[in-house]
Amino acid sequence: MTDVKGKPCIICVAITGSLPTKANNPAVPITVSEQVESTHEAFEAGATIAHCHVRDDEGKPTSDPERFARLKEGLEKHCPGMIVQLSTGGRSGAGQARGGMLSLRPDMASLSVGSNNFPTRVYENPPDLVDWLASEMLNYGVKPEVEAFDLSHILKAKEMQQKGQLAGTPYVQFVMGVKNAMPADRDVFDYYIRTVERLFGKDAPWCAAGIGPAQIILNDWSVSSGGHARTGLEDNVRLDRDRLAPSNAALVARVVDLCQKYERPVADWRQARQILGLAAPR
Ligand SMILES: [Zn+2]
Repeated sequence: MTDVKGKPCIICVAITGSLPTKANNPAVPITVSEQVESTHEAFEAGATIAHCHVRDDEGKPTSDPERFARLKEGLEKHCPGMIVQLSTGGRSGAGQARGGMLSLRPDMASLSVGSNNFPTRVYENPPDLVDWLASEMLNYGVKPEVEAFDLSHILKAKEMQQKGQLAGTPYVQFVMGVKNAMPADRDVFDYYIRTVERLFGKDAPWCAAGIGPAQIILNDWSVSSGGHARTGLEDNVRLDRDRLAPSNAALVARVVDLCQKYERPVADWRQARQILGLAAPR
């Protein structure tokens, strides 16, 4: 394994998502003010990317650009410097409604580039929609985070880069542990890393997210392998089998502990922006 000591690690906190409810864990932030408060705690704990979904008045997922605008404004005010990443994921809307918030020019947005199964449905990302979302991100200067639910999604990112659909070096996130999609498999994970290094260069940054009990496993694999780490209540609401996570910040603290274990400094927002090729805060 290459030596990762001293290499800053970016921590992304996925604060809300589309699925978790207060019934699953009362700490899941649902309203914009709860989201801002929870993100602020996570930012203080060491997270520098906020991956965001929004909910409507009933707590259901929505792609409403007005909600996203309020959340983005709150985060920029209360977490200055933090990277705001808005989700264009398919659980919050359908078709082009998924990208309606890109005109807000967030620092980043998630971009799924292919389809796969989810626990109870197909996660549909048809080619024409993927192309449109990528073109909107180019138009508005939004850096995509490519969500790799499968190996083919990493190779698709390369093809899109070559065609000029993605600017710069794609930032790929490996997602593992979604039921009926790719499980947390160490050999596959290692091959994902090799593929990113082969296609985008040895120094290309990458990240990984694990769902449910796979969250802490993927955090450990990423931090120890030189990648960046995602945590948060979107992906997992528990500290372990018996205990709910008390906050997003508590999940961030687990990653900070791993960074100490593997002797990696936690990236501050300036370092995170530099690693990802992002401009100063907007
Ligand atoms: Zn998400």
